[in-house]
Amino acid sequence: MSQKSYVEKLRKLSRNLWWTWHPEVIAIYRDLNPVRWRGVHHSPLAFLEHFEEWELVPRAEEMAIDSRINYAFNRLQEYTKAPRLTDLGGPSSLMNQPVAYFSAEFGLHESLPIYSGGLGILAGDHIKSASDLGVPLVGIGLLYFHGYFRQYLDSEGRQREAYGHTDLEHLPMERVRTEDKEWLKIAIETEEGVIHAGVWRAEVGRCTMILLDSNVEENNEFDRELTATLYGGDRKTRIRQELLLGVGGLRALAALNIEPGALHLNEGHSTFALLEHARCLMERDGLDWDEARREVSQMSVFTTHTPVEAGHDRFDPALVKQTLSPLAKRVGRSIDEIIDIGRIHPGNQAEQFCMTTFALRSVNTVNGVSGLHGRVSRRMWNRLWPDRAEHEVPIGHITNGVHVPTWMAPSVAQLFDARLGHQWRDKIHDPETWLGIHDINPSELWEAHQLLKSRLISFARRRLVTQATRRKEGKETVADVSRFLSSQALTIGFARRFATYKRADLLLGDMERLTKFFNNIGYPVQFVFAGKAHPADEPGKDVLQSLFQLSREEPFRGRMVILEDYDINVARHMVQGVDIWLNTPRRPLEASGTSGEKVVMNGGLNCSILDGWWAEAYDGSNGFAIGTKNHHRDPEIQDQRDRDALFSVLEHTVVPIYFDRDSEGIPQEWVQMMKNSIATMAWRFSANRMVRDYLDQCYLPAACAVQRSSR
Ligand SMILES: *Cc1c(COP(=O)(O)O)cnc(C)c1O
Repeated sequence: MSQKSYVEKLRKLSRNLWWTWHPEVIAIYRDLNPVRWRGVHHSPLAFLEHFEEWELVPRAEEMAIDSRINYAFNRLQEYTKAPRLTDLGGPSSLMNQPVAYFSAEFGLHESLPIYSGGLGILAGDHIKSASDLGVPLVGIGLLYFHGYFRQYLDSEGRQREAYGHTDLEHLPMERVRTEDKEWLKIAIETEEGVIHAGVWRAEVGRCTMILLDSNVEENNEFDRELTATLYGGDRKTRIRQELLLGVGGLRALAALNIEPGALHLNEGHSTFALLEHARCLMERDGLDWDEARREVSQMSVFTTHTPVEAGHDRFDPALVKQTLSPLAKRVGRSIDEIIDIGRIHPGNQAEQFCMTTFALRSVNTVNGVSGLHGRVSRRMWNRLWPDRAEHEVPIGHITNGVHVPTWMAPSVAQLFDARLGHQWRDKIHDPETWLGIHDINPSELWEAHQLLKSRLISFARRRLVTQATRRKEGKETVADVSRFLSSQALTIGFARRFATYKRADLLLGDMERLTKFFNNIGYPVQFVFAGKAHPADEPGKDVLQSLFQLSREEPFRGRMVILEDYDINVARHMVQGVDIWLNTPRRPLEASGTSGEKVVMNGGLNCSILDGWWAEAYDGSNGFAIGTKNHHRDPEIQDQRDRDALFSVLEHTVVPIYFDRDSEGIPQEWVQMMKNSIATMAWRFSANRMVRDYLDQCYLPAACAVQRSSR
């Protein structure tokens, strides 16, 4: 086989996002040229653009690159041809039409900047697991040409935001073409003119992802910017974005001749899809309004993601009218009637239109994202069903999970291959799979973990040097930061959005105790922080700034670091390398949280408030709990209690267990907890388990309902 065909194969591999969860494929690019790989922000197609034929030859022989390319290529072929769920018989064969899965963001890889945080990563993990399991699912989203902002801290530690320009030509996706080779576009009429959008298509393993792009010449300036940035712009931008996502998404599917068997709204941004699908059933199948509403309700799933009121999109009625009037007309309803569906009190002109309310009134199957969040959501939305008791509010829960192949370090996966047998990869959701963990030699597991911690430290130092250089710090400082952090210290990671309820600064409320904690001779500790504050969140930026300033003072300097520009790449290094993952939300505001789930499979331990997923995961032997499940109505008192509880568990439990070493330097009790953590949680908080739950509890019932009513 000629060398050219290897480069061709690499290009083909790059075009299916399957590579994003196959580290052995990513390693091919990195091994070919590590510096360039970093320079193109881990984008395979950008990497190959500048790749010269002759570069492959010496490298290929040196590192058996050619056989690795062949192997990966063949595996992708096998993967795409493997039987799907619908081929396997049984109830799943009812799923002969795909789920249309709507999300305003998809976090699949750091090189594809169409996500901001947890919601997007969840959507990315969902579609990857659907592909692995052979669940027919089409992701629907928006292609933001500026993405989400990149974060920098200035020399005072103030967050600065910069928007990049996404290099569309090197993304692993393509414009969908019509038969006469024109770019496929959809249109949506509004009172303020027609919105047009071009359709892009990406392959995610065996699933397809459809992304809409409003930056087309048919649009006016305003509408061209609709898909500029994620969660940017004013209310009008937001509602038109959401119109594009929900209504435009379904129109794109129709243009592609894809008839969805179920609609899954990942958060309320895409709620207008429910109206559009009703229109479609009325115009195409001749249903009347009530019949169409009923059918849409039966085939739709709505996942709500936050108990924070501000997290639920609300719009002025006038704005809704501007945006939805033509669609209302097509379903033969007055705009007021449509707006009333999104109100707690129909007819109350002063009440805004709420996307969540609209969805709750329009969809049969609704779920929160953890057991606790389900309960909190039932309480929160009881007002929609005032004559029902709280436990009768029709909101259930499916706890979030994470995509194991994406987040598990390759070295850990190899250890499991050797000790659990390769089959573990096909049975991630099965508790039995993980019991073999207990037979792994403690020193072997500890060594694997130490290695990952060293990798995190090298990564952090490299980033710190870049950050200091950009801030124009002196040569000495730059040399200094390249020696920050130590592999001997207990390493505590904290990375998430800097929303104030997450309380990144909880420990800072007692500086005396914090200083003592750092000065404990013989028990070195260190913190790695990362996370963005929303551009409009000044209090969040203040928290970031106070951490930054503290990190420059003794005794914290060199042992408390902040990595800028938290993204999937930073997250991956952190969740793989920390000893402890710290999570301090004000209960019960963290609906689920997923970053701690990524830590589990890599051998890190969680130390968390009993909120979100941790409230149902913690069993006393698989990590550390901060405080109890009670909460005080005064947040200041609650903060004080949680702070004391946090110091207490760190000082009296975490540190002693971590530094209690046997003659070979192994912390036996700690390693036992690592094993307990993996065995009890890796399967349960996997996206495989999650998608199977959605399949059984939501998608199959929806598919059955559609079949029953099929005319
Ligand atoms: C996993 C992840 C999140 C979500 O983490 P939470 O625990 O829900 O805060 C956010 N951002 C990135 C980059 C992630 O990888």
